[in-house]
Amino acid sequence: MTSPSAAPSPILPGATIGFLGGGQLGRMTAFAARAMGYDVQVLDPDPDCASRAVASRTITAAFSDVAAAVSLAEQCDVLTLEIEQIHPDVLDAVAEHAPVRPGRDPVFIIQDRIRQKQWLSLQGFPLGAFVAAQSADDITEAVRSYGPCIAKSTHGGYDGRGQVRLSEPEQGADAWDALGAQPCLVEQRVDIDYEISVLVARRPSGEVAVYPPSRNHHTSGILTWAVLPAAISDAMTAQAQQLARHVAERVGIVGLLAVECFVTRQGALLINELAPRPHNTYHHSERGLATSQFEQLVRAVCDLPLGGTELLAPSAIVNLLGDVWLQPDAPHITHALDVPGTRLHLYGKTSARTGRKMGHLSAIGADSQQALGRVLESYRRLSPGTIANFDVHEPVLVRPTH
Ligand code: ADP
Ligand code: MG
Repeated sequence: MTSPSAAPSPILPGATIGFLGGGQLGRMTAFAARAMGYDVQVLDPDPDCASRAVASRTITAAFSDVAAAVSLAEQCDVLTLEIEQIHPDVLDAVAEHAPVRPGRDPVFIIQDRIRQKQWLSLQGFPLGAFVAAQSADDITEAVRSYGPCIAKSTHGGYDGRGQVRLSEPEQGADAWDALGAQPCLVEQRVDIDYEISVLVARRPSGEVAVYPPSRNHHTSGILTWAVLPAAISDAMTAQAQQLARHVAERVGIVGLLAVECFVTRQGALLINELAPRPHNTYHHSERGLATSQFEQLVRAVCDLPLGGTELLAPSAIVNLLGDVWLQPDAPHITHALDVPGTRLHLYGKTSARTGRKMGHLSAIGADSQQALGRVLESYRRLSPGTIANFDVHEPVLVRPTH
């Protein structure tokens, strides 16, 4: 609609925001955009995508389809994305028509796991040991020198997919084949004490807002629950926030950057991976913080003043995977919502598959432990048959010594 150089700044309500990607992250951001008076258009390969219900126009096309993306951009004042797997040619082409936030460079760095790790390493950010494997022998060699490892495909992996865990060097050849016999990232398996993430928002002017860290728990590579505040030391909170801010500034993000981190049993803070978009571990920001990640993304890409990130209420979420709907009995929604402080979020997906994210439950509480306890109690009521899938059922948020 407008050329980037002539782009009005700020982009005010009434304008149209284009989303590359129409999954649940785009859907929740689109709700926030709608609430602020923006129109929303979406491009996604799935004609039934989660954002469809919120968008005034949905284009069904692959993320490599330049013509389709240009057609989206022609009717939008600004574009953003909710998935990093957008082809760089697409980002270049749409940038001719409207500002794309985040832009091509951070997305290009982040969308390839090897490129991302090498960039982080070059910048001197703290990481676990890794190698870019070009062959099965490279994987075998990595396991021989590092011990237990995780091999990760360079593109398209998410929720633990595209990953193979290895304990013995002899598993190298199978892992290479399982990941499509293509170059892959091999990481030493980190001795994790706990996992946190830090979300950073940055607008074109350079203004930055850093969120309080979220404490996150994964089962088989998929996020099970996340809680705020993280119940970690003030020193670790400050260290993680400073690290995330530095990464966001260095990579030049405009929009949101989630920095996933491990804290090792020795107390070292390591970056696991980056995401240039809203993040599953900050869905509780909608309940517990002054500005949800979704509204913050809208503000950032429209160059509006960023909202506060201060805590309003301790809050937690539990993901609802397709498994919940694949049980013999239907989810007990009324029973689940009877737990004080809870809310149900569903993404409007009609077909449930094992491991597919269908929604989440959230809860607020007097402290992190109560918020987490409530949301897990709500989950237990919703789906007594699947809580056994969680590897920890009754987590106690002991404050680590580091
Ligand atoms: P995804 O893109 O699927 O989120 P991640 O690389 O973040 O992929 O891996 C998912 C989860 O698997 C992490 O949150 C962590 O729990 C575990 N994991 C990943 N890499 C490692 C590692 N090097 N050492 C130990 N655990 C890991
Ligand atoms: Mg991850």
